[in-house]
Amino acid sequence: MLKTDVLIIGSGISGLFFAMKTAKQRPDLSLVIMAKETAKNTNTRLAQGGIAVVTDHNSDSFKQHIKDTIEAGGGHCDPEIVKMVVQQAPDRLKELLEIGTEFDKNKEGKWDLGLEGGHSQNRILHHKDNSGLEIEQKLLKIIKQLPNVELWENHQVIDLNTETKKDKTTCSGAFFYDKKYNRIKYIRARTIVLCTGGCGQLFENTTNPRIATGDGIAMAARAGAEIEDMQYIQFHPTALHSSTENPLFLISEAVRGFGAHIVNQDQKRFLFKYDTRGELATRDIISQAIFKELQFSDQEHMYLDCRHLDYEAFTYHFPAITAFCNQKGINQKKDLIPIVPAAHYQCGGIKVNQNGRTAIKNLYAIGECARTGLHGKNRLASNSLLEALVFAHQASEDINKTIAGFTFSSKILIPKFPKTEQSNDYHAFDILKKELQILVTSFYTSENRNPVLTEEKIKKLHETAISTINPNEITIPFIEFSNMTATALLIIEQCKKQNSLSAQIQN
Ligand SMILES: Cc1cc2nc3c(=O)[nH]c(=O)nc-3n(C[C@H](O)[C@H](O)[C@H](O)COP(=O)(O)OP(=O)(O)OC[C@H]3O[C@@H](n4cnc5c(N)ncnc54)[C@H](O)[C@@H]3O)c2cc1C
Repeated sequence: MLKTDVLIIGSGISGLFFAMKTAKQRPDLSLVIMAKETAKNTNTRLAQGGIAVVTDHNSDSFKQHIKDTIEAGGGHCDPEIVKMVVQQAPDRLKELLEIGTEFDKNKEGKWDLGLEGGHSQNRILHHKDNSGLEIEQKLLKIIKQLPNVELWENHQVIDLNTETKKDKTTCSGAFFYDKKYNRIKYIRARTIVLCTGGCGQLFENTTNPRIATGDGIAMAARAGAEIEDMQYIQFHPTALHSSTENPLFLISEAVRGFGAHIVNQDQKRFLFKYDTRGELATRDIISQAIFKELQFSDQEHMYLDCRHLDYEAFTYHFPAITAFCNQKGINQKKDLIPIVPAAHYQCGGIKVNQNGRTAIKNLYAIGECARTGLHGKNRLASNSLLEALVFAHQASEDINKTIAGFTFSSKILIPKFPKTEQSNDYHAFDILKKELQILVTSFYTSENRNPVLTEEKIKKLHETAISTINPNEITIPFIEFSNMTATALLIIEQCKKQNSLSAQIQN
């Protein structure tokens, strides 16, 4: 039977950074990283803006970064966690630099720090407009050189295995689908780290790639972990509008930091009506403002206006955005860029402590799937790559100290799995997925939400999904769709709780 000391589920920044640190510090441990598609297919790869770190203590300070984070989080952040993350940032940055990660410098050889919404100072380190790609490539290169780490691509974890003794639940392994051999298998592990990313694919408009289906949330919830704050989904205000594409291409916040304006169909700026910071207000405020303007217009989108900006400097700073827009026939020197808000980041998730531990023994969660207390109701731009690094460090240190006490579970009798279907009817599930996205989006963005009706409809969609598969089969689209419906129901349940809480407070 397969076994590894540490099983890491996910190959984004959180999984790779955790694996790198743990493998280097503990060459005696075996580590397996699983990714449900290729290792590169992650949210991490798409990160454009960069990573927020206080590097210049003359113009900036930890205190200001902490204040900005807490303000963006709408009073719902855990101040101790915010402090820990902000203060650890320079050390984690140093580790990224040590493996050769490159961030842009200005002519004086100092960091070329970007400015993004909600930040009171320029503090975003970036690699042009493809910071995530740079970080991911450097981490993957190192991971492939580490002898005690194996990277298993196209291995989709289906569920966690837990054992409960005397009311204490322990995670002891995971069932997964090996896409190459079309088989369900089981792996035992002394520790499991969920790094499965977010759930943006629940929404019609999202910047998240196909892998972001909330698998980690659904699996952890089934295993009995606490899930919190799922009602706080961050919408990014400036995704490039398209009625046919999913995911939508992101126009980084850094473009507004660079001076771009948001305008309506009459080419008029309108954000100052909603917030004195205008284009530099936080994402939640700008997205809400755009939704409101769209409601009162017959338009499908608003616009980003970059025409007044220095064209050469723009293309130098944002080569990927320029290239993508050009490919779509948009020249930012003379054209307005059509934009819409799109689901971008899951602020809540699997509840963890300061070391990334969940309530289940041996189970950790880090990165976007975790609810650490850093983001509160609304994540401050460029704080999530940072959070992933800090919590990967914390979890690695914790596991290093505790793993000696974790033993492998006794061998389990693997149930006889239903037949797995290679053909996997993606088309039927694409239709169901679209229906789910429409339901979740209209629930989330409408002012007159009907949670009970939406829940009923989602449950019906799940029943339809069950009826489309052969009872003796299990298919990957079905597993993924079930995780999506489970995560959608969690979002609605937590929205309901939030509403009744606000009603109580108002009464
Ligand atoms: C377009 C875009 C731009 C962004 N820009 C920034 C930015 O500038 N700065 C910033 O701080 N943040 C940014 N973010 C957010 C940030 O990129 C993510 O929050 C972060 O990369 C998440 O990293 P992660 O390791 O948690 O997950 P991900 O990078 O999403 O990786 C998830 C991994 O989990 C695996 N997985 C999922 N389910 C399973 C399963 N069932 N079995 C096996 N494997 C599974 C996937 O295959 C993947 O390898 C951006 C996000 C997007 C989408």
